[in-house]
Amino acid sequence: MKIYFLGTGTSQGIPVIGSNHSVCLSTDDKDKRLRVSVWIEADDTSILIDCGPDFRQQMLTSKCAIIDALLFTHEHADHTAGLDDIRPYYFKQGDISVFAHQRVLFNLAKRFDYIFENENKYPGAPSVIAKEVVNNESFKVKNLEVIPINAMHGSLQVFGYRIRDFVYLTDVKTIEQAEIEKIKGCKVLVINCLREEYHSTHFNLEEALHFISLVQPNKTYFTHISHVFGFHEEIQAKLPDNVFVAYDNLTINI
Ligand SMILES: [Zn+2]
Repeated sequence: MKIYFLGTGTSQGIPVIGSNHSVCLSTDDKDKRLRVSVWIEADDTSILIDCGPDFRQQMLTSKCAIIDALLFTHEHADHTAGLDDIRPYYFKQGDISVFAHQRVLFNLAKRFDYIFENENKYPGAPSVIAKEVVNNESFKVKNLEVIPINAMHGSLQVFGYRIRDFVYLTDVKTIEQAEIEKIKGCKVLVINCLREEYHSTHFNLEEALHFISLVQPNKTYFTHISHVFGFHEEIQAKLPDNVFVAYDNLTINI
């Protein structure tokens, strides 16, 4: 299975608009981070997790041709604002399957009513098949089993997802032991790590490293990174041997 990091930045992306911060001015491509999203290809199945405001650019760069399912972690704009741009996929494939918590589906149906509406649709508006994700209930995308992982982003519930030996979790601040058990034994873990300083709704470096010590995956990749965390190379130098800073367009095979 192939994992393609479409975006690895926190909500504003890097560079931040109008910022003169040294990381925002960096010429290293690894310091340019679009909003978080990942593309998973396994056998003949293509899954995307989240669909933020950079979705169009990410799809052009990655050349992702088919979306069998779009999985959402939560409703925040940096994870959902690009939904309108599924249109080219809808024109080619028909209705796109969208998996999310019931609360997130309601939120999206309110914000993108023309996409979710079934009657009197505007010609050319995309359509989705909304599928509710329920904790402790795995689901299938074609033949691929997906296990939801429940976590908290401050006071907001978020879902992460396990697919075979790959686990993707973002915007996590706290997670219960029963959920950690679902992650154990994975080969590759992706986890949010915002910066070194404390944050009320995201793991900082200390919390992310502690979480890794509980899960003990073979390899971990950090995502949802803020410019204040530092330059890519600078962050990488601070990490243990099996922990890596993800960057946009990084591809790994599991
Ligand atoms: Zn986010």
